[in-house]
Amino acid sequence: MPRDENLEPDPHPSEGRFELSLRPRRIGEFIGQEKLKRNLTVFLKAATQRGEPLDHLLLYGPPGLGKTTLAHIVAAEMETSIHVTSGPAIERPGDLVGILTNLDAGSVLFIDEIHRLSRPVEEILYPAMEDSKVDIMIGQGPAARSIRLDVPRFTVIGATTRQGLLTGPLRDRFGIISHFQYYDHDALFEIVIRSAGILGYQIDEEGARGIARRSRGTPRIANRLLRRVRDFAQVAGKDRIGLADATAAFEALEIDPLGLDDLDRRLLRIMIERYKGGPVGIDTLAASTGEDSGTIEEVVEPFLMQEGLIQRTPRGRCVTELAYKSLGMPVPLEG
Ligand code: ADP
Repeated sequence: MPRDENLEPDPHPSEGRFELSLRPRRIGEFIGQEKLKRNLTVFLKAATQRGEPLDHLLLYGPPGLGKTTLAHIVAAEMETSIHVTSGPAIERPGDLVGILTNLDAGSVLFIDEIHRLSRPVEEILYPAMEDSKVDIMIGQGPAARSIRLDVPRFTVIGATTRQGLLTGPLRDRFGIISHFQYYDHDALFEIVIRSAGILGYQIDEEGARGIARRSRGTPRIANRLLRRVRDFAQVAGKDRIGLADATAAFEALEIDPLGLDDLDRRLLRIMIERYKGGPVGIDTLAASTGEDSGTIEEVVEPFLMQEGLIQRTPRGRCVTELAYKSLGMPVPLEG
């Protein structure tokens, strides 16, 4: 069964306008990620005081946690422009040269899915990041020669779902590496209240808490759930969202109390029923669920691990007792 596309943290949301209007614009409006925010605030202030661009910044974490949002915030805080692109969009080295030579001095170049840059494109990026130079080839065949061009100083903000997918040389060129954590219920509650306010929805505290608890630690999911719950409340003829509307929506959408979605539950069930709870290798899990191993490693597994439902061992992934309980299955006896 495919994932519920309403709930999946889709990196290419069809709800672009909706996402944009809810996006915090300044660091003070950015909820949660306290440690990351604290450090970044210092680095931003120091760079501003020196009148320099911020050092290159790598943001990593699962989809929907606010990497793109934060990149825009950095540009706003540095009072500079931002050019947004992604690893797969920059096909040839020449594409990147074109972008780099047109950047404003001190601006931000945001590269989403930076782990998907091709090697030849990466090679162009290195000297640009380090020395503000690009090497381009002029002519062809034996007459070809390379010339160095100056480009303005700028800040690369790279976003990736897994740091391990980046090549070493690229990773080494980032002066600041920030890890996004899943949001706790309090932060998600604040996000739901803030979004409801922006969208003009009335919501009870209990309703907002219910949404926060089932958002899989992810603001993008919280915002989408909020809209779905609002649909249920509206059709029920209410102008205020309460816990009952939230619960009705969750039941209809089959979102369980931990916020697990269909794929989460399917994965746990397969591990338990087919593999006696593990250990199971990632490729086996991918084959058994019909998902690609990247989705499992980047989207499904980190949340299940953080919730204590699975553990990683050198021999593969194992479910925990909590996983049996969350599926209402009997916990097997040891041995
Ligand atoms: P990513 O780039 O990590 O996939 P986004 O930056 O696109 O995630 O965030 C998804 C949505 O979640 C944004 O449109 C924004 O509305 C919301 N969001 C993310 N982080 C926060 C936050 N800290 N506070 C409030 N809303 C947030």
